[in-house]
Amino acid sequence: MTVIRPGDEYLAQPFWTHLANGTLHLSTCEDCNKAHHPPSPICPHCRSFNIGWKPASGKATLNTYAVARHAVHPLLADQVPYTITLVDLEEGVRLVSGIPNGMEVDLEIGMPLECKVVKIDDQLSLPYFLPAGAADQDQ
Ligand SMILES: [Zn+2]
Repeated sequence: MTVIRPGDEYLAQPFWTHLANGTLHLSTCEDCNKAHHPPSPICPHCRSFNIGWKPASGKATLNTYAVARHAVHPLLADQVPYTITLVDLEEGVRLVSGIPNGMEVDLEIGMPLECKVVKIDDQLSLPYFLPAGAADQDQ
């Protein structure tokens, strides 16, 4: 699978290192216990600097999706059409994700989704959100 990789300086950050270890973690305030994304050293909810990392439940809802028929980068030319999703996590965080290329799933806005962390290589894993049951399929 071809993906556009974050730079090495980003892959060393906790969001990516947790994914490389197979779990989705969210930057979470230790004072108000609310998650936020993208990660930041200051809680956007209560302005605390007391930020940690907590595992996400993996449960999400499909907010919307789009099928890209034109590659935004030449590296993705052999991937079109591909599906981009916007998912709302149970923790109140919204993430951009997608459907792994070649996987056939029926999407409906508002449907429940489950996170599946897909290993790309030793440094990079990506969180995909799939309908229940589809998350168990291999790519
Ligand atoms: Zn807070």
